[in-house]
Amino acid sequence: MTPDLPFAAGLHALGPAFYSQVAPTPLAEPRLAAWNGELAVALGLPATLDAAAGLTALLAGNASPGAPASIATVYSGHQFGAWAGQLGDGRALLLGELAGQEIQLKGAGETPYSRMGDGRAVLRSSIREYLCSEAMHGLGIPTTRALALVASPEPVWRETLETAAVVTRVAPSFLRFGHFEHFFYKGEHESLKQLADYALARYYPACLEAANPYQAMLEAVIARTAELIAGWQAVGFCHGVMNSDNMSLLGLTLDYGPFGFLDGFDAGHICNHSDPGGRYSYANQPEIGLWNLHCLAQALLPLLDRDAAVAALKRYQPQFEEALTARFGAKLGLTTQEDEDWRLLTRLFDLLQAGRTDWTIFWRKLGDFDSAPAAINAPVRDLLVDRAAFDGWAADYRARLAREGSVDAVRQAAMRAVNPKYVLRNHLAEAAIRAAKTGDFGEIDRLRTLLARPFDEQPEHEAYAGLPPDWAQDLSVSCSS
Ligand code: AMP
Ligand code: MG
Repeated sequence: MTPDLPFAAGLHALGPAFYSQVAPTPLAEPRLAAWNGELAVALGLPATLDAAAGLTALLAGNASPGAPASIATVYSGHQFGAWAGQLGDGRALLLGELAGQEIQLKGAGETPYSRMGDGRAVLRSSIREYLCSEAMHGLGIPTTRALALVASPEPVWRETLETAAVVTRVAPSFLRFGHFEHFFYKGEHESLKQLADYALARYYPACLEAANPYQAMLEAVIARTAELIAGWQAVGFCHGVMNSDNMSLLGLTLDYGPFGFLDGFDAGHICNHSDPGGRYSYANQPEIGLWNLHCLAQALLPLLDRDAAVAALKRYQPQFEEALTARFGAKLGLTTQEDEDWRLLTRLFDLLQAGRTDWTIFWRKLGDFDSAPAAINAPVRDLLVDRAAFDGWAADYRARLAREGSVDAVRQAAMRAVNPKYVLRNHLAEAAIRAAKTGDFGEIDRLRTLLARPFDEQPEHEAYAGLPPDWAQDLSVSCSS
C-alpha cells in the first residue's frame, strides 16, 4: 500500500521550463537502512525506523508519491572553473514539500539530465551524505539534511561493482547558483526573472522591501555564503567540489561528495582525489566562494545594476573576514577583539602546519588551557612537534587572556561549545560503510546520534574522538559516487 504523505507543490508552480516530470525508477529489494527520527518528527513523520518501515517503498522510489508529480529540475554550472553547460538533477527527484521543506530522493534513477550517468548513487557515498549532513547540522553549520537511507542489493558500476542506495534529502530549497546561470546563459531572461521572483517570495521575502529586491537578494546570498565558508574553515570542513552548481542559494552546505574534515592540519589539504590541482583545497575555499558568487551575480545581471552588483561582491571579503574573526576568536576563547589576534592565530597555524597537528584534537585540548603562569599545559603542548615554539606562543596567549580578564572555567566551557570533540572523519564513515556492506546498518545511526551532539563529552564514545588509524591513510575519496 502506498502511504499517502501530504506533499505540497512548491517549485512545481514555476512550470515546465524549470523541470521535467520524472517517475522514480524502482529499486530491487529495498531496505530502510537508516531513519533520522529527530528530523522525521519535525516533518510530522514517525519517530522510529520500525514505525517508518511502511514508507520504505516510497523512499526507494518503488511507490508513486502521488500528487504532485516528482520532478527533476534543470540547472547549469561552472565545474572546476570552466563553463559546463546544462547539468540538472541527474539523479535527484523532488517529491514536494512537507512542513515547508523540500523532500528529494537522491539516487532514484535516470532523468533527462542524467547525461552519461545511471541516475543512481552508491551505498558508500549515500552513507557519507546521510552522516555528514547531520554532522554539519550538529555543528551548527547551515546544511541540507538527511531523513532516510534506503539500501538495495542492486548492482551499480563505479570503479568497481558496488550497490545502490537512495538518500532522502531535506532542505527549504535545493536551488543552486547554477539554476540562475542556466537561464542567463540560454538568454531566457523572462524565466530568469520568474525564478528570482520565486526565490524572493519564498526565501528572501525581506528583500522585497528593497529598492531593487534582486540586488538585496544577491547581497543576502553573499553574506550567507561568507558566513557558511567561515563556518567550514573553523571546523576544518573541506567540501571538495565547490562547482557553482553545488552552491546553495540559501547558503547551505550542499551536495556531499568527496568532502573531508581535516585530520592533521595542512592548509593546502585537498580532500578530493579528482582535484589534483587543488582548486578546492581547504585554503582556497573562501576565494572559491567569491568566484562562485561572481557566477551568480553575472547570471542575475539582467536584473541588477552592474556597479551595485560589483560593489556587493566587494563586500564579500570583509564579511568573510569578520565572520572568520568571530569564529576563531571564539575558538580561542576570546570575548574581545584586538588587532594582534590574527598574528597570534597565524603563528598558531604555522605551528600546527609544521607538525601536521590534528585540527580537531588540538582545538578541543586547547579548551583545557590553564592560564596559570607555571602551567605547562602538557596535553595540548604534546600535540605540537616544536614544543619550544608552542611555549612562546602559549606565553603570548596567556598574556592575551589576561588582558581581557579571562576566567579559566568560564572560557573553558565556552571553548567546549565551539570546538567539537567529534567530527565525521573519513575513517569513521568508512567503518560504517564496511559494516553496512555486510548488512549491518547499526553503526550508521550510532554515528549520526553521536555527531548530533559533537560538542558534548560522550565518554562511552571516546574512541571516536581519537586520531585516525594508520589504515585511514589509504582512504581516497573522489567525485565518483
Ligand atoms: P556532482 O559532481 O555530484 O555535483 O554532479 C554533477 C552533475 O552530474 C549533476 O547534474 C548530477 O545530477 C549529475 N550526476 C552525478 N552523478 C550522476 C549519476 N550517477 N547519474 C546521473 N547524473 C549524475
Ligand atoms: Mg552536484
